[in-house]
Amino acid sequence: MPYTLQVGSVRCHILNDGLHPVDGGGFFGVVPRLLWQRVIQPNGDNMIPSDTRSLLIESDAGLILVDTGNGDKLTGKDRQRMNFVGRTDRLVGELAKVGYKPSDVDLVILTHLHGDHVGGATRWDTPDHTPGQLMPTFPNARYIAQRLDLAEASFPNERTTATFHAENWEILLANKQLEVVDGPQRITASIRTDIAPGHTEALQMVWIEDKGESLLFLTDACNWAAHMNRLAWVPAFDIFPLTSIETKRRIRQEVFERATLLVFQHDAQVVTGRLVQGERGLEVKPEITEEAWVDSSAG
Ligand SMILES: [Zn+2]
Repeated sequence: MPYTLQVGSVRCHILNDGLHPVDGGGFFGVVPRLLWQRVIQPNGDNMIPSDTRSLLIESDAGLILVDTGNGDKLTGKDRQRMNFVGRTDRLVGELAKVGYKPSDVDLVILTHLHGDHVGGATRWDTPDHTPGQLMPTFPNARYIAQRLDLAEASFPNERTTATFHAENWEILLANKQLEVVDGPQRITASIRTDIAPGHTEALQMVWIEDKGESLLFLTDACNWAAHMNRLAWVPAFDIFPLTSIETKRRIRQEVFERATLLVFQHDAQVVTGRLVQGERGLEVKPEITEEAWVDSSAG
């Protein structure tokens, strides 16, 4: 279900490309399970639910989509593994719920090039999502991605290769729809990107700042609210985990001082919240929450 928010005079929508089970050790990295299972209870296979959210912004410069979810190019085997059986056009369906078509999107900001963020950037030109000709999902949009992240994604190593799939961006580069940028970008007077290294080298977060209010789409700089509460909690997915801690230290200070609304991209329980002074230091006070899907069956 999409959520519609107002930040000053800017209207935006949180869309969801779906919930699927992932190994709890991925998001919680080196944190002992005894500690993180207080945040989210895994099932017998150590799996926890993960959401895949995008942000849609109605801006002065047109309609802006931040990240594109897993998309519909996954094979039957991958769909089964990720619990996406029978699922197609999920993000496009969410877009329709708030009144838009893919052709209405003017700009797509790719926060980084991992499969669960750019999988929906392109699609197969077939009605049943079987492999065919690759097409941009958003035919009229300019897409932007960071140069360092594109370099990393284009020449992955043994550890990073599994999540980088050139079919998600190659045709966008070939038809000049993907603009490769370097560093923070000013998009409109109220919207900008901010580089948050750690998860990837040039991860880009998105800020909306208007009439004294602010929203930060954190992307994988902090994908669960619990990671904002505890600096040391860093996902196993992060390429530079110690840098992630320094990035979070900087973010925490800024969002606390500005009472910024935070959007968590993968948290199955906390969709949005603000950092406040709690009994044990700064902690996220949730605003929009969801009941997590929990599969209690083992095996
Ligand atoms: Zn990622």
